[in-house]
Amino acid sequence: MATTSFLYHSLGLVGYRHLSTEYGGGKLTHHVERASGKRNCGECGALRPFITLDGRFQRTFLALPVGRKRQEVVLHGHIQVCSKCGARGREPIPFADGKARFLRALNRLIVDLCGITTMKYVAQYLGVGWDLVKDVFKAHLEKRHRKRKLRQVRYLAVDEFATHKGNRYMTVAVYLETGEILHAHEGKDAAALIPVLQRLKRAGVPLKAVAMDMSDAYSKAVREVYGEEVDVVHDTFHVVALASKAIDDTRKDMVRELQGEERKAIKGTRFLLLKGLESLKESSMSRLMALMELNEPLYKAYLLKEDLRMFWSLPDAEAGKTFLDEWTTEARAVGNRHFMRLADTLNSHRPGLLAYFKHRISTGPLEGLNNKIKVLKRQAYGYRDMAFFKLRLYFLHETSVLMPG
Ligand SMILES: [Zn+2]
Repeated sequence: MATTSFLYHSLGLVGYRHLSTEYGGGKLTHHVERASGKRNCGECGALRPFITLDGRFQRTFLALPVGRKRQEVVLHGHIQVCSKCGARGREPIPFADGKARFLRALNRLIVDLCGITTMKYVAQYLGVGWDLVKDVFKAHLEKRHRKRKLRQVRYLAVDEFATHKGNRYMTVAVYLETGEILHAHEGKDAAALIPVLQRLKRAGVPLKAVAMDMSDAYSKAVREVYGEEVDVVHDTFHVVALASKAIDDTRKDMVRELQGEERKAIKGTRFLLLKGLESLKESSMSRLMALMELNEPLYKAYLLKEDLRMFWSLPDAEAGKTFLDEWTTEARAVGNRHFMRLADTLNSHRPGLLAYFKHRISTGPLEGLNNKIKVLKRQAYGYRDMAFFKLRLYFLHETSVLMPG
């Protein structure tokens, strides 16, 4: 029969007889029944000759939509009695999972849609609850995550981000060669990183270096698991961020200390000072120059910040050493306390700074993921389900479109 064949091909209903189809109320409803020759016992698997029918039940399942029309399948089911094992109960339903109220064929569609839009829109489009979409998507990601193997990589980048405003953090490790998040763990201490490093080591992954900020937690984790075998590389992004903070703190000091015209000249210059010289527009550039003429301490601090950015374009570690010597001497000569503190920090992290010239890696790719993580955070409904949030992080690299909502 043509319609039976349609149900088979479009909805994956195998071994069902089509009874009728209704159109109405903006939806299509197909009534189906188990083809009598296909019956089997849900308990022992005995076939048709062992089975007698003893009552009826009815269940409605959501199927894939047809265009924008909802499509449902109403199963006219039977209570079966098996003479082989003695079981009595509802006939087995092979086209849906457990108590699910939708066809298994819908799973694939939900998963595909979740890859291109938000779960909220998927739920709206299919006319199902958000929780259902989430459950299906989560189960799919869990399955893939279980099968995922550790990659044979040389480089990792590690960073933290705030999960809740200000006080709670998550540590994230990314394969630098592929941009995939390999690991996410609550906290920003060594303990948040050690388990994944141990896993990599046990698996014999040929790790060479890990890019990170200059806080000691992550480098401690690397040392604890790998000793000196794996290098720590303090990354450009974080060091420059510290220099930016130093110039901003210098500016704030000035605002506090100065009066009148001098003070007025500094107000509203934050973005001028933080930007790289090369990315300033002409008008901003002349404003910056005017400011520098007025205020020598700020000018010197600005030069220190801009100068430090040159470090990562040096040819080798030898040049790097000389540069750090000169830069820290200069910072001390200028006498700016924020830059003196930065000079101390740089000095105590020399090996990790100079290791850059051996590996030339940074946490850059992770910073790129940051925007996606932010959008995901807005979608995560306050992390009601942390396991799900982590799963989404692990597959974030393949999420092409992420819309808020
Ligand atoms: Zn049986």
